Amino acid sequence: MKKFRKKLVAGNWKMNKTVADAQKLADGIKDALADCREVDVVLCPPFTALKAVGEVIDATSIKLGAQNMHWEASGAYTGEISGSMLRDLYCHYVILGHSERRSYFGETNDVVNRKVKAALGAKLIPIVCVGETLQERDAGRMQEVVESQLVHSLADLGERLGEIIVAYEPVWAIGTGRTASPEQAQDMHAFIREAVGKLGGVETASKMRLLYGGSMKPDNAVALLAQPDIDGGLIGGAALETRAFVEIVRAAIPKREPGLPAGTVE
Ligand code: PEP
Repeated sequence: MKKFRKKLVAGNWKMNKTVADAQKLADGIKDALADCREVDVVLCPPFTALKAVGEVIDATSIKLGAQNMHWEASGAYTGEISGSMLRDLYCHYVILGHSERRSYFGETNDVVNRKVKAALGAKLIPIVCVGETLQERDAGRMQEVVESQLVHSLADLGERLGEIIVAYEPVWAIGTGRTASPEQAQDMHAFIREAVGKLGGVETASKMRLLYGGSMKPDNAVALLAQPDIDGGLIGGAALETRAFVEIVRAAIPKREPGLPAGTVE
């Protein structure tokens, strides 16, 4: 029997929503998913709305995440936010190495690695993003690129590698409406699991949750989430709308198979 990996769906709201709009969105999601225990749900609003969204989802199973953090705990880093500041606002997760951070803000694998270590040190669960550009895919280099991102972003974590969540987000699928096919996504997720196995052992790899991100919508979520190595989604555009996000979360609820406990695969 395969390891049971509880599915996780995280909404990355990016640089969207005022505090009032964020509260409204969180409220709608909370009302629809208050009773959802089968899927881990994470909301990642902008820094400015973390406190307000945290208050809305307080005492529910929905968890709060941030979209970035600095690798130092405090100090003269104007405009930055540390892991302990995020914990102070009851964040449980932090997205690190998103392709928008890598491409617009020059985040290298080394920077991501420092942030991952700092996040773990602050008791945050890092959701580490990897993914190739269209050029890299067209050149047949997607596995090489993704493996290099994994090896360097997740270097020297020791046993704590097991606490990481990896999101595979092909850059060409982010915000473009163009999704990886379920087969393309599954192939890369299986490859990532193998690469993590080389880094930290097969047991760690088999337990690690791997999310897919890139134009996941209610109409393609079912097929993507049915793939054996896809353990959830990191959602951008569709996370900004209550109905779409809730439908994706519902698509992640495991179907009970006759004779097996809910959520068991195979
Ligand atoms: C993202 O940016 O993490 C993302 C997956 O965006 P979208 O769903 O809009 O493609």
